[in-house]
Amino acid sequence: SQAKIFDKDSRVNTTFKDVAGLAEAKQEVEEIVEFLKNPAKYTKLGGKIPKGALLVGPPGTGKTLLAKAVAGEANVPFFSMSGSDFVEMFVGVGASRVRDLFKQAKEKAPCIVFIDEIDAIGRARGKNPNMGSNDERENTLNQLLTEMDGFDTNSGVIILAATNRADILDRALMRAGRFDRQIHVELPDLNERREIFQVHLRPIKLADEVEVNFLSKQTPGFSGADIANVCNEAALIAARRNRNKVTKQDFLDAVDRIVGGLEKKNKIIS
Ligand code: ATP
Repeated sequence: SQAKIFDKDSRVNTTFKDVAGLAEAKQEVEEIVEFLKNPAKYTKLGGKIPKGALLVGPPGTGKTLLAKAVAGEANVPFFSMSGSDFVEMFVGVGASRVRDLFKQAKEKAPCIVFIDEIDAIGRARGKNPNMGSNDERENTLNQLLTEMDGFDTNSGVIILAATNRADILDRALMRAGRFDRQIHVELPDLNERREIFQVHLRPIKLADEVEVNFLSKQTPGFSGADIANVCNEAALIAARRNRNKVTKQDFLDAVDRIVGGLEKKNKIIS
């Protein structure tokens, strides 16, 4: 019997208004929303709807969020799996998991299937066998390529995959008819950080003195995930200080804490 891959609740409420900045990336995925909402409009002229797109960019920049928002905007289910699940958890069965994934996705179409960390499966063949056995990973990758080629573009399933290591991906994944579209999701600039703060400050009770401009200037190099963290941390710090509003000082202390965490992480890596 085949393992049920999509057992979680797949409905999403995320929409484009939850995704701040990323104007170009949003514009590119907008087209995918249109395909999902109205496939006939595109296929009746003989066009083929793309099978998938690759979201490329550093950690925490909103790749998962954007993929979810595509499903939310098109009002279709969202199913997600991590590439590392295929190679770590399911030793010996990676290829059959991929087969199951596609089979079950087709039953749920129209839908979005999101594969996070696709580099865990899709690293160029014959290199760096440091995760799972290399044969295992190659079998899984080959099955993924076979499935991408085999499924009908007009089946209503769109595969979005994410990676922060596009440089190590097997070129075969990017060939026409597979992940032939790449969408870049970069770290936010000053203006984009402002927009991201606006989203994450929505639920926070702010003291009048707190200015979004100021916060954006204090956070160069921060990702959207870091900014979400700052807002949450500031609210917790303010609560600990028994305030009824979150002050500028609470934010500054939250920024310090997040910067400290990032530095520690970088030290471990380098
Ligand atoms: P990873 O590569 O680590 O999986 P990711 O690029 O998929 O990261 P997300 O998981 O989408 O990043 O982002 C984590 C969280 O950070 C989001 O749930 C959201 O709260 C916040 N976030 C990130 N980017 C944005 C953005 N552009 N606008 C608003 N919130 C954002």
